[in-house]
Amino acid sequence: MSQKKIIIIGGGLAGLTVAAYLARAGLKVTIFEKHIQIGGYVSSFVRKGFIFPSGPTSFGSNGVVFPVLKELGLDEKQKFVESGFQISWENHDVALDNANSVYKSLLELYPGEKRDLSHYFRWVKIGAIGFHESINNGMMFGRNIIKTIVKLIIHHPLFIWALQVAKKQTNRSLHNHFIDNDDLRKKMNQLGYPVMSGKNTLGMWGTYFFDSWVPIGGFQEFANTLASFVQQNGGEIHVGEQVNRILVKDGKAYGVELNDGEIAHSDFVVSAADFKCTCFDLIGKEHLPKSLIHKLENVKPSEPVFSVWLGLRNSAEFSEKLKRFKNSHAYFTCSDGVDIQLALLSKDDPSIAPPEKHCLTIRRLSSYENWPSGRNEIENYKIIKNANCEELIARAEEFLPGLRAHIEVQESATPLTFERYTSNWKGSTAGWNWNPKFLPHFDFEKDLPLKNFYPIGHYVFNPGGVPTAMITAWYIAHEIIKESEVDYLRSEL
Ligand SMILES: Cc1cc2nc3c(=O)[nH]c(=O)nc-3n(C[C@H](O)[C@H](O)[C@H](O)COP(=O)(O)OP(=O)(O)OC[C@H]3O[C@@H](n4cnc5c(N)ncnc54)[C@H](O)[C@@H]3O)c2cc1C
Repeated sequence: MSQKKIIIIGGGLAGLTVAAYLARAGLKVTIFEKHIQIGGYVSSFVRKGFIFPSGPTSFGSNGVVFPVLKELGLDEKQKFVESGFQISWENHDVALDNANSVYKSLLELYPGEKRDLSHYFRWVKIGAIGFHESINNGMMFGRNIIKTIVKLIIHHPLFIWALQVAKKQTNRSLHNHFIDNDDLRKKMNQLGYPVMSGKNTLGMWGTYFFDSWVPIGGFQEFANTLASFVQQNGGEIHVGEQVNRILVKDGKAYGVELNDGEIAHSDFVVSAADFKCTCFDLIGKEHLPKSLIHKLENVKPSEPVFSVWLGLRNSAEFSEKLKRFKNSHAYFTCSDGVDIQLALLSKDDPSIAPPEKHCLTIRRLSSYENWPSGRNEIENYKIIKNANCEELIARAEEFLPGLRAHIEVQESATPLTFERYTSNWKGSTAGWNWNPKFLPHFDFEKDLPLKNFYPIGHYVFNPGGVPTAMITAWYIAHEIIKESEVDYLRSEL
């Protein structure tokens, strides 16, 4: 194949995945990543020997992540360990291990809700199993679709019913439908994104029960594994190089302009960066159809978070307290009803913390608009950040008494921090807002008729997340490889 040149903007998981396939196919690939390390949200930072996850604390393969790694021959290189979840409040902890066990544990705590719990978890069980089965046969790659549907009809006929129930519903409306008890409904509402489709609610339960993973050695290892593969296959990765502009002439992308003014030419440009920023800042409104501008002016990002990372020393007493983590991830409702999330990833993978020590991530949703962003507001921002940090630690201490006394290392990030490091608009955590009411629908051929340009990543397919980043990259890599082969054949004729 001729050495077509492809520039990829952004070295997050989407950028690295597309680069891996294209480099393996013999194309000339260059990634420009603005941050000093690759991975985007799938990265880590190290403090005094503690390895903290910058973004996600776990992910579901969703029939994508492991098959992609296998196709690239990287499944033996990067190992993952299974992770798990629980919901907690007061002194109660319910592990989200499988539908039957969650049903039984909740029934003990809410004996009056037998009918509602059994209806809801019957739906969850049928839906989560069916969902898991359906995506694990290559469906996400457009493979075995008929075979998978036939298998589902034979082995999980009620899955069609579960999907039907989920149709046109959200997690909240389903909880209203199934669960009368306000308190119990609130426990369910805190799982996943605040509002998401009924189908995503089933996907979420499927992930909790069967498909929750953490890369061994930390999230950076995962990104590094892909990056090494790209480089071994002749791809170039430039970190600390921000793309300022996508060069467009006669409706075609032909390269990029970097922060220092340098111009790089290419046959194709792939943007794995934030989609709104790609369109408005890198391509420019003058090259966009009015309909796309209108769509992008009305989109909403997925909810950002405020995050605190703690490196913890241990003690005999504290190690007893840590046993409260039945699984590494806990959704905890504080005494005033506020929900926070805790992830003790060193429980799944002790190698990320110094011996006998622990890495804890604490998070809560946090509105972007609540954070002062003006240049003359830096002091105010720091004060608010510190106050939020203190508050989140105090809340986590309700779950883990004695926590504060065991802190050795402390870091925190606001939605503005997430935005600064990754350029995700308003610190969006996983693409567009998951609320079906706000979901934009793109038909890229019509919406963005720019030749030789492809968007990938968590804004391209709903819902966003790790598997979305990889599958959007997989499709575009195959399209570019196909186009390059056609061009090559044309040039040979
Ligand atoms: C707190 C948190 C929790 C999450 N939890 C989960 C979860 O449980 N499960 C799940 O599946 N997903 C989760 N996600 C989402 C998931 O991490 C992302 O959807 C996914 O990693 C996105 O990958 P990406 O490559 O599309 O984008 P990104 O990771 O955002 O990568 C984009 C890259 O482009 C670079 N870039 C941007 N602009 C430019 C430019 N102009 N020039 C050069 N480089 C540029 C950025 O620096 C970045 O490295 C979570 C995310 C966060 C933040």
